[in-house]
Amino acid sequence: MSHSALSQVSVTVPVGGDYSVRKSVFKTNNISFHDKSWAPMVTLDLKTKSGGPRDRHIVCMSVQQASVPKVAVSPLELENANEPPLNLYKPKEPYTATIVSVERLVGPKAPGETCHIVIDHGGNVPYWEGQSYGVIPPGENPKKPGSPHNVRLYSIASTRYGDFFDGKTASLCVRRAVYYDPETGNEDPSKNGVCSNFLCNSKAGDKVQITGPSGKIMLLPEDNPNATHIMIATGTGVAPFRGYLRRMFMESVPTFKFGGLAWLFLGVANSDSLLYDEEFTKYLKDYPDNFRYDRALSREQKNKSGGKMYVQDKIEEYSDEIFKLLDAGAHIYFCGLKGMMPGIQETLKKVAEQRGESWEEKLSQLKKNKQWHVEVY
Ligand code: FAD
Repeated sequence: MSHSALSQVSVTVPVGGDYSVRKSVFKTNNISFHDKSWAPMVTLDLKTKSGGPRDRHIVCMSVQQASVPKVAVSPLELENANEPPLNLYKPKEPYTATIVSVERLVGPKAPGETCHIVIDHGGNVPYWEGQSYGVIPPGENPKKPGSPHNVRLYSIASTRYGDFFDGKTASLCVRRAVYYDPETGNEDPSKNGVCSNFLCNSKAGDKVQITGPSGKIMLLPEDNPNATHIMIATGTGVAPFRGYLRRMFMESVPTFKFGGLAWLFLGVANSDSLLYDEEFTKYLKDYPDNFRYDRALSREQKNKSGGKMYVQDKIEEYSDEIFKLLDAGAHIYFCGLKGMMPGIQETLKKVAEQRGESWEEKLSQLKKNKQWHVEVY
């Protein structure tokens, strides 16, 4: 600790090993913090913008060996399978699972509500990261009296081990579909989404009919542990990526050791609408060489033309790096509302043209190489 009126403080720790740097700065007026950590040599510079006795401040720092404990899981048999489980339960014979918890994920200023829902499948409906479950809401299908509702799909937001690491639960990230009358602007509950409201209103112990798991397009390719995965999500589209990231950074699985780069772009309305932000921010701190996280807050941030900041604006900002990573074999994934794709494709096309490349050719190559993964709804 130093107690000083210094214009600059430097801390240097020896080469070798990873270090985490904890810092707290009191009376931060006129102090800017430049963190150049995570290089083999960690150097921190604290600078005051102007000197003089009024700039007295206390700086507390502790530099310590990083410890990033992962959760050791007992590998499931699924780890040895060559193919993911598919459609173990079909709409005619769904599995009756139990709701474990329903938790609102967003803050008070978020437009709309999104919930994290943990479902106990007892180990009977195993899945791989990137797959979806189907949910059949209770009640009658209004279009087919006497028949159950149609299945609604939800991307699974946990790893195959579930949030409790025992392989018995799956988590969903569900946005309540609320209908507002376009003329009056008032909510019309009779037209609210059936399944999303059933899920968000459910309580621990309630039963839920599930089908699946389904989907292969968003599976996390695991052939190369050092691969790059660029993930582009809007809203609940973050669900499969939460699963990937927990597999990469939270769980210790003997058969899966990630040493590549995962780069998440998340687009939501405002900071209150961010989903799983704490989890992602922690990975950023613990795995700065393996994880990047960029947020686009459309109602809070402006893009370079002064318009709303969407994920495609963030993609444009990093387009050189993204194109280089794709050329080097990176996988790119898109998940969220259908409406996100046209703007993103337009941006990618524009960037390709600026680079003197044909986007059509590049896209067909990416698809051919199985680097391009899209699940939008
Ligand atoms: P529905 O009852 O099916 O209604 C659909 C929409 O129509 C609603 O907006 C509703 O308000 C409106 N509506 C209803 N009645 C009327 C009427 N009379 N007039 C006008 N409008 C009306 N969603 C997520 O939240 N999270 C996910 O992770 C997720 N993953 C998905 C993955 C896949 C592969 C797919 C295909 C979809 C995914 N979805 C996800 C979307 C999800 O499947 C549902 O479509 C969504 O939850 C809406 O279903 P619902 O039953 O609530 O609404």
